[in-house]
Amino acid sequence: MSETEIRDPGAFETRLSHFLFERSEEARAVRVGEKEVSEQAEVVARYSDLFTRAQLEALAEAEHQAKTADASADEVERLYRLRKTCEGGIVAAELAEREDALENEILAARVVWKNEEMSLRTAQARTAVLDTYADRDELGELQADESARFNSKQLALITAAETLEAELSGQPDPIKRSEEEKALSLRELESALAVVSERLDERWSELRERWFDRLLGSGRDDLPRQHQVAYMRRLSPLASTYTRERATEVCLDTLGRLGFDLMAMPNIRLDLDDRPQKSPRACVIASDPPQVVHLITRAQGGLHDYEALLHEAGHALHYGGCDPALPYAFRSLSRDHALTEIYSYISAKIVNEPGWHEHYFSLPEKTARENAEAGLFIEVMLFRRYVAKLQFELEFWGRFAHEGGSEKGYAEHQLAATGVRYRPDWFLSDMDSGFYSADYLRAWIRSAQLRASLLEEVGEDWWQSAKTGDFLRSLFAEGTRPSNEEIAARLGFEPLDCAPLLAELGA
Ligand SMILES: [Zn+2]
Repeated sequence: MSETEIRDPGAFETRLSHFLFERSEEARAVRVGEKEVSEQAEVVARYSDLFTRAQLEALAEAEHQAKTADASADEVERLYRLRKTCEGGIVAAELAEREDALENEILAARVVWKNEEMSLRTAQARTAVLDTYADRDELGELQADESARFNSKQLALITAAETLEAELSGQPDPIKRSEEEKALSLRELESALAVVSERLDERWSELRERWFDRLLGSGRDDLPRQHQVAYMRRLSPLASTYTRERATEVCLDTLGRLGFDLMAMPNIRLDLDDRPQKSPRACVIASDPPQVVHLITRAQGGLHDYEALLHEAGHALHYGGCDPALPYAFRSLSRDHALTEIYSYISAKIVNEPGWHEHYFSLPEKTARENAEAGLFIEVMLFRRYVAKLQFELEFWGRFAHEGGSEKGYAEHQLAATGVRYRPDWFLSDMDSGFYSADYLRAWIRSAQLRASLLEEVGEDWWQSAKTGDFLRSLFAEGTRPSNEEIAARLGFEPLDCAPLLAELGA
């Protein structure tokens, strides 16, 4: 096929699936530490024929024709996703070499702490498990200093991507562009969430004082630095109960009670090994759903391992459970991540159930309740942190066109929401593209609605009932087709009804 040949949507979709498979497998190899050098640019170059302006125009034309010919909503949506993927591919292709170069520089960066040289990822992973408060601050600062050295390059890349996206989409306003993709108002979402966050003020200050003291000790700063968060999040002092060794077995059994036998699903490939360059953040890479789905975690000890494994298992079961007969666009492509995060959230919520702690760790009822509250403490902290992230990102992108990207307001929002001092220059490390924070928050609202509905339909035992599994399986089968907000309607809620979320977090 010549370089200039333009594909029809069906042929584009097929070749796209091959490209995304190879790209996902490459990203996986780097992420898990099998490869030290990222070669995304090489994969992108091999498929450069997919991502041309001429191809983008052809897809836009096909979408326009489908609309005027009154094609089904599914068909129009499928073409929309193909066009937006092509658009994103052009941006990625044009920036791939610079992205690779920056990622490789970051991978090669080292900090030296107590005579030991380590990568930034290892330093980050280590900070979370150091036993001494001062050590965590010290190594955390070293790691953050070194990360901040890459800020100007990172900002230059973000700016280049933004300029290209504005040009290709014809929408110069990054907030409006995101709103069109997500099909909702980000500011309305923010307003609804700000109310929830505010109504949790009292509950949060009580949880915060109790758990900051318990987890960080009485000698802590009133307002601890950001380097203490990952350590708290692991609930490391509870690590003797929630051991690294048992994490896999307990989580697999938990899912088994819902009717999901992960070991018997060859399409979900588990990678639970410990490797020095493996990112400490758990993730799922769905290379070709439902046939090839990777579930990757790096257990370090503590309740967080269990929560992270259950969270990622929710994604894996979603992608691995979609109907193979769906078009590729509805198995693998989505407008955003807000749908799949509902399923990871509902799965991870199991660690907030006292009964789960009693059952697996033979704890007396009172201890089980306390430890489940620890899970809730983390969830309220993260929820408020994400509302603050969304608020900062709306400000960041709102002023981006006339001011460029700046850190203004980042640390202030985080401090007010969490009582933790974040470094202003951490703002880029803390920001994912495309308002991912909003997707998490939509999933927070929806998974609380889902749990409320399961409590109603299945009962208190929802977290260990095969009926829950059956209901989830029927949702998974639809793949990535529905929007997060469409699930609200299935559950009988309005999209922005935050009452279940407030009830759950304020409990
Ligand atoms: Zn997730």
